Amino acid sequence: MNDSTALVTGANKGIGKEIARLLVAEGLTVYVGSRDAGRGQRAVDELGGGARLLVLDVTDADSIAAAARQVTALDILVNNAGIMAGGSAAPEDDLDDLRRTYETNVFGVLAVTNAFLPTLRRSSRPRIVNISSGTGSLTWSADPDREFAAHAGAGAAYRSSKSALNALTLFYAQSLAPEGFKVNALAPGLRATDLNERAAASDGDPAEAARGAVDLALLPEDGPTGRFVSWDGTGVPW
Ligand code: NDP
Repeated sequence: MNDSTALVTGANKGIGKEIARLLVAEGLTVYVGSRDAGRGQRAVDELGGGARLLVLDVTDADSIAAAARQVTALDILVNNAGIMAGGSAAPEDDLDDLRRTYETNVFGVLAVTNAFLPTLRRSSRPRIVNISSGTGSLTWSADPDREFAAHAGAGAAYRSSKSALNALTLFYAQSLAPEGFKVNALAPGLRATDLNERAAASDGDPAEAARGAVDLALLPEDGPTGRFVSWDGTGVPW
């Protein structure tokens, strides 16, 4: 495993940095994706080991193309970069919130995945992990008994972007299965990060969520594909 190479988008802070930290600890070479070179370099310096800076803005086609040219071998892509524009649970998220959120959480994932597919296809064990959210579960959202449904804390833009990401996860899992890919989505749980102003430190350590992502990144050959799982490995309904 320790000759593998991974890319984590948005890895200069939050859950992404913790995913990169664990993958470095596993002995992998890890591209730390960051749209800002300075912030990314600080994370790389902190992570040490096999961490490498990769300047990558997932909403910028030129940035994605330049990053893809730099990476000549890749086994694992973790689509982690995400934003919560708008953010309130009220129904007033506007079109601008929706567009900005989709640019990063949906179109960004599609563009990055497509750009790195040729390199992933050369891997003997290609894995894609999409960092989704339980708020993207339509089944949970439709369940009136879940406290979650009423108080998910995220607005229409964020929640529907993660539902769309889940749909993309299934699409890629099914279409790439014949080529040996494993493509899965993770619900990391509520974590105290810059994204989530509702979360208190007591709500959970981003490092705990990262373990779930790394388990999906390092899935063995007989591991599942096309699954939506929580950070602790339990299944989440689509
Ligand atoms: P943070 O805000 O701490 O980190 C988000 C990361 O994404 C940052 O590195 C940020 O970079 C990066 N990013 C944002 N936009 C872009 C872009 N256009 N190009 C490249 N990188 C970008 O949030 P989290 O760690 O909490 O979020 C990580 C993932 O986990 C997200 O997909 C989020 O939706 C998901 N998630 C988080 C939950 C939580 O409770 N925290 C719950 C459920 C899901 P920069 O520093 O430059 O802004």
